[in-house]
Amino acid sequence: MTFVIAEPCLGTCDTSCVEVCPVDCIHGPLSVEEIHEIQAAGEDQKLEDVQLYIDPIICIDCGACEPECPVEAIFPSEDAVPDKWNEFIDKNADFFA
Ligand code: SF4
Ligand code: SF4
Repeated sequence: MTFVIAEPCLGTCDTSCVEVCPVDCIHGPLSVEEIHEIQAAGEDQKLEDVQLYIDPIICIDCGACEPECPVEAIFPSEDAVPDKWNEFIDKNADFFA
């Protein structure tokens, strides 16, 4: 069991979840600073294919991130991820492989 970020994060990258994670296990291809710079510049289209991921090894299942996500992209376990987004379970783990 681990927390998983799914499709709604793509292009949203709000980063609220990163700020509350006590073990700093939420990362993506861009740093939070880089994401904020892109958003501040109004260049959100550059984030279309960008999402963040939760490291399933480091995550302590505290649940702090889930209510912070404005687009309900975070699910509390593999089993809770809707079938249509099952591929995101491996995507999260593979990002840290
Ligand atoms: S999971 Fe939600 S809060 Fe975290 S970066 Fe993606 S959209 Fe933002
Ligand atoms: S459940 Fe807790 S430890 Fe896991 S990603 Fe969310 S905030 Fe971080």
